[in-house]
Amino acid sequence: MVDLPPLREVIARHGLSASKALGQNFLFDEQLLDRIAAVPGSLEGKRVLEIGPGPGGLTRALLRAGADVTAIEMDRRCLPALSELTMAFPDRLRVIEGDALKLDHNELMGGEPFAILSNLPYNVGTALFTRWMGGELWPPQWTSLTLMFQQEVAQRIVAKPGMSAYGRLAVLAQWRAQARLAMKVHRSAFTPPPKVMSAIIHVEPGIMPKGVSARVLERVTEAAFGQRRKMLRQSLKGVPGALGALEALGLDTQRRAETLEVSDFVAIARKLS
Ligand code: SAM
Repeated sequence: MVDLPPLREVIARHGLSASKALGQNFLFDEQLLDRIAAVPGSLEGKRVLEIGPGPGGLTRALLRAGADVTAIEMDRRCLPALSELTMAFPDRLRVIEGDALKLDHNELMGGEPFAILSNLPYNVGTALFTRWMGGELWPPQWTSLTLMFQQEVAQRIVAKPGMSAYGRLAVLAQWRAQARLAMKVHRSAFTPPPKVMSAIIHVEPGIMPKGVSARVLERVTEAAFGQRRKMLRQSLKGVPGALGALEALGLDTQRRAETLEVSDFVAIARKLS
């Protein structure tokens, strides 16, 4: 491994004070960063997309793990620090300046499979996750997602029926993928520490159930959880055919959305697709 200056020194030298607006909470602990980079399994020779490298803590861990990294960073202030890292790893690190929400990730990765790892900026985390998990095309080009979220959001992703955190995000994450909470990360691990605890979730694509449109499923869960305290006969009233589908499936229309299994939502969406 190339000898790199300590991260804190790099940050001080480039005057990288954390910007709240950009959701910047940096990680410095190398052991923790190596553990995060190990969550998807060996990255040796694998292509990785990282969103928001910031000063490059996780990027360094990914490079230590042997990955070929493409990193998208929006904050221009971080680019000089990152270009030092690119100089140390010219063949294995590519930094792209831009907004990850506006870029086509598959195109950026040249149509090849890739893993996604990121200590996500909290303000865009859910939007990116929804985009990666959505769409009709499955399996996706990414092979796994390893992402830092606020713990509350991570719990919504892995929640099971009956839990208060169970909702649209859980169905989206679980209907054709396996999602698990890989590790909790204490707020004190970050500089500056955020107000809340964080957690890493890991997602791997599974098999897409046959005959189900992602768009239709999204429409059903949006309506069902949009009025989560109401009975399904009320919340799904505006979705044509949904109540008939419930009856055909033997699902009681007096139930509430949070009592339905992910497979029930899939079955309803299949009837409507
Ligand atoms: N990866 C670093 C670490 O773990 O220490 C920094 C993580 S920090 C939570 C989030 C990073 O995402 C910041 O560097 C921020 O500038 C960047 N960022 C915020 N919004 C972004 C966007 N829309 N596209 C790309 N990067 C973004």
